[in-house]
Amino acid sequence: MRVAVVGAGVIGVTSAFAVKSAFPSYDVKIFANEFSPNTTGDGSAGLWSPYLLGDTSAEDIIRWAGRTFRWFEQLWKTGLSSETGVTLLPVTNVTCDHKDVEIKWKKLVYGFRNLSKKELERLSDEHRSNYTQGYRFISYTAEPVMLLPWLMKKFVALGGRVETRNIKMLHQLAEEGYNLIINCSGLGARELVADKTVVPIRGQVYRVNASWTMQCLMRNDGDACNYIIPNVNNVVMGGTNQENDFVRSVREDDSKHIYDGCIRMMPSLKGSKTIRAWVGFRPGRPRVRLEYESLSTPAGKEFKVIHNYGHGGSGVTLSWGCAVDVVAMIRNLKVPELNSKL
Ligand SMILES: Cc1cc2nc3c(=O)[nH]c(=O)nc-3n(C[C@H](O)[C@H](O)[C@H](O)COP(=O)(O)OP(=O)(O)OC[C@H]3O[C@@H](n4cnc5c(N)ncnc54)[C@H](O)[C@@H]3O)c2cc1C
Repeated sequence: MRVAVVGAGVIGVTSAFAVKSAFPSYDVKIFANEFSPNTTGDGSAGLWSPYLLGDTSAEDIIRWAGRTFRWFEQLWKTGLSSETGVTLLPVTNVTCDHKDVEIKWKKLVYGFRNLSKKELERLSDEHRSNYTQGYRFISYTAEPVMLLPWLMKKFVALGGRVETRNIKMLHQLAEEGYNLIINCSGLGARELVADKTVVPIRGQVYRVNASWTMQCLMRNDGDACNYIIPNVNNVVMGGTNQENDFVRSVREDDSKHIYDGCIRMMPSLKGSKTIRAWVGFRPGRPRVRLEYESLSTPAGKEFKVIHNYGHGGSGVTLSWGCAVDVVAMIRNLKVPELNSKL
């Protein structure tokens, strides 16, 4: 059984690792034109927190994000943080919006609670703002720049293979003898499978040295957002979420928004040394696409595809849960050649 995984971002690498672990006899190969540290997740802080997922159902978000949270918990509890970068930290999220927001995933995390009126007033004073709602919880970060090389090493140790290559059409791989293709191409799905519903949600961030930062602070007011997320060696300051914006270069006005907004929330960041500014494109989609499709080559040979892309601002948060569903889908395909060696 030969499986091709297209994509080496957090979605591709978790899928490939999960499939190779579940079906050791399968020949699983990752094809991608970019690998860590050059994938979208590598610039992100990897905070577990569902964000920018369009109309993806609450049921799916809870299943995928819940499994990923427990996976991070397991990595944390089994002493793998130094290798994977998995870190536990308190998160405070505030907004000036008046629209009532119901957090459907609150039971998945540790110690979720809404902020009291008094706490909102105090934070509004401190941040010179006018918060209307907020909540606190404890969550994990799994920064892909550490998690991905660790996962890739494990995948290769299991016998998984890797090739740097641009794939123009999925049927190319079927013609080369791959029976199943797992499409984890993120924003690349726009060209690879002509899915123009996938659009970039542009995110600009800064990484700074500020080892004294021990908590995550986020302010979300619709289009305007600021966040401070500590990672193992540095701190991420954000950010922007500009839909359908293909500008890869750093914008001065976004930089000003990030610095002014973050320093207003956490003045101790003032003067922290900038390591780098970065722009990434979250693969936004009306909803995450995780589904099976049967396709044919131009010569009429049938091949199977599992699509796993369009995770918006939550690729890290949903990664392991989606990979577990990919494995379940393979088991359920009930195709003799897929399951014969189990
Ligand atoms: C500023 C910012 C902050 C973020 N913060 C967080 C966060 O804190 N928590 C969180 O959960 N998420 C966060 N995200 C979102 C997260 O980074 C993405 O959802 C996630 O990285 C998407 O992963 P992916 O594997 O689908 O895509 P990508 O990482 O983009 O990977 C796509 C892969 O497919 C390959 N590919 C595409 N087309 C082809 C082709 N034709 N041939 C060969 N290879 C191809 C690419 O080379 C690449 O390897 C953030 C994103 C940004 C931009």
